[in-house]
Amino acid sequence: MSATQEKSVSSNTSAGPAESYDAIIVGAGFGGLAMLNRLRAQGLSVRVLEAGDGVGGTWYWNRYPGARCDVESMEYSYQFDESLQQEWSWPERYSGQAVILKYLNHVADRFDMRKDIQFNTRVSGAVFDEAAQRWTITAESGARMTAKYCVMATGCLSAPNTPDFNGSDSFKGDIYHTGKWPHQGVDFTGKRVGIIGTGSSAIQSIPIIAEQAAHLTVFQRTPNYSVPAANRPIDREMEREIKADYAGFRERENREQIAFGSRFQASDVSILDLSPGERTKVYEKYWQIGGLLFLYASTDMLINKEANETAAEFIRGKIRSIVKDKATAELLCPDTVVGCKRLCADTGYFETYNRPNVKLVDVELAPIEELTPRGLRTGGKEYELDCIVFATGFDAMTGSLLRMDIKGRKGLSLQQKWSEGPRTYLGLTVVGFPNMFIISGPGSPSVLTNMVPSIEQHVNWISDTIRDLRERQLSCIEPVVEAENAWVEHVNEVGASTLFPTCNSWYLGANIPGKPRVFMPYLGFPAYVEKCNQVRANGYEGFALSKA
Ligand code: FAD
Ligand code: NAP
Repeated sequence: MSATQEKSVSSNTSAGPAESYDAIIVGAGFGGLAMLNRLRAQGLSVRVLEAGDGVGGTWYWNRYPGARCDVESMEYSYQFDESLQQEWSWPERYSGQAVILKYLNHVADRFDMRKDIQFNTRVSGAVFDEAAQRWTITAESGARMTAKYCVMATGCLSAPNTPDFNGSDSFKGDIYHTGKWPHQGVDFTGKRVGIIGTGSSAIQSIPIIAEQAAHLTVFQRTPNYSVPAANRPIDREMEREIKADYAGFRERENREQIAFGSRFQASDVSILDLSPGERTKVYEKYWQIGGLLFLYASTDMLINKEANETAAEFIRGKIRSIVKDKATAELLCPDTVVGCKRLCADTGYFETYNRPNVKLVDVELAPIEELTPRGLRTGGKEYELDCIVFATGFDAMTGSLLRMDIKGRKGLSLQQKWSEGPRTYLGLTVVGFPNMFIISGPGSPSVLTNMVPSIEQHVNWISDTIRDLRERQLSCIEPVVEAENAWVEHVNEVGASTLFPTCNSWYLGANIPGKPRVFMPYLGFPAYVEKCNQVRANGYEGFALSKA
């Protein structure tokens, strides 16, 4: 499966030999590794190109203190190999970043994947050559490769967002981004630290940084809802039970999955049918279960504003009871819809504001004006800092794709095609970009699910499709425009029927100045799997298949 050198390269790149493969996969996270495994099993020559110097994706880059999964460990793992899932043992209910990274390194070694992965290789562009019906992929180094199939496993949350504050270069201290955390770790002992943001990354890291730093200032633009994660050592009896029939467990998970995991049943009651006392009991029960399952305390949480407000008031009550300083507690109370931005799961987040060395600063009404040599200025006041942590999130879902220059038929660039928002068929494929597949692309359930099974579902669909094309000696697959239009419309309609579009979340691209406001993920996990299966069963309904 080693690469071959070819002399005739794509006509729209500069001359010179390019390595040639059946498939190139960009990214070596959960998606890229699973894809490599499946395509290699078909006997294809495959190359994975990865910007980092190791596997792991999200779990390679996000090494900030407290980084942890918010889906339970027994569910947030691969299911493609029974012995892998039998032999691996997770230490905690929710795995920390280091353990997930260790797991992905184990997978890479166990399936001898590294020989087909090229690290330290950031892809800058990909061009489809219509005559050769091949993709030419270019790395930032200038290296070029060609492939029949191109799989973008570049991640939904992998393009860090670093706001361009005035004076960004003037700050004399150290600047970190949670999504690009130094591998050697950071020692905050004795330091005055500022953190910008109160999303999931900030909410996980704030309690730990606060314990170490001399002083921590949290710059908050929008307060967030957070539920205690209730992390604990894994229940070994539960692990034995699941492992006794892991396939059955996964099957139920795939069939019944509510977003973010399946182990606890979602409630089947409307909260509005209950008395105030009964509501509190229900919310208290889900608060104690911990984590994102709180969103399933009632059937109408994400579709009925009045129902949602009862949950919002419950969480605000918790914040007020935990945070002693009244003004700080009020500042921490969100007035948005619960779950409209991704709900956070924390360990001691609100409690941290009771520490004498932690201060919350509101930067909503008085936005951050500038970074200065000594710190950060907001509301006319300069905060002196030794380090600033940007917990400012990601250009989600489209960022990693649009940061490359991807050109399909007739030189059409993905940037042009998506200038008013992403357009895909099933979140997997794009009109004008034949034989290019996206894992967890916009228009697929992706970030609204437990992502590992969603990724495997995409990997299996892509792999089966490529096998079918080869068996039927077909050269290209590409969606037709009517199917793409209908899918985009459907994704929008479903999103609009919920409360999701009511706040400025990254699901809508609202965190990135100038990004089109479009609800990008598809809400409808089990139905989506059915749809993908049906499309295949009906001879790739909505696609044009062509011979060489
Ligand atoms: P990634 O893991 O993002 O991997 C993409 C890879 O592509 C990266 O290694 C990147 O370097 C590489 N890449 C991107 N562009 C290029 C390029 N141009 N050239 C070369 N390489 C490139 N999901 C959940 O379901 N549950 C969770 O609890 C959860 N927690 C999360 C916590 C954090 C901090 C973050 C950021 C995300 C979390 N997610 C969670 C989402 C998480 O991203 C997915 O679960 C999953 O890890 C995604 O895998 P992936 O392979 O699709 O993408
Ligand atoms: P995020 O949710 O987008 O949060 C970014 C934070 O930075 C927000 O509070 C945002 O404020 C703030 N911010 C951005 N630009 C700013 C500016 N110019 N001035 C002031 N504040 C600014 O990013 P994240 O915390 O990295 O999380 C992203 C996603 O990754 C999560 O939603 C989740 O899906 C995943 N994740 C999961 C976990 C987990 O628990 N497993 C942990 C981390 C991340 P606004 O809200 O006002 O925009």
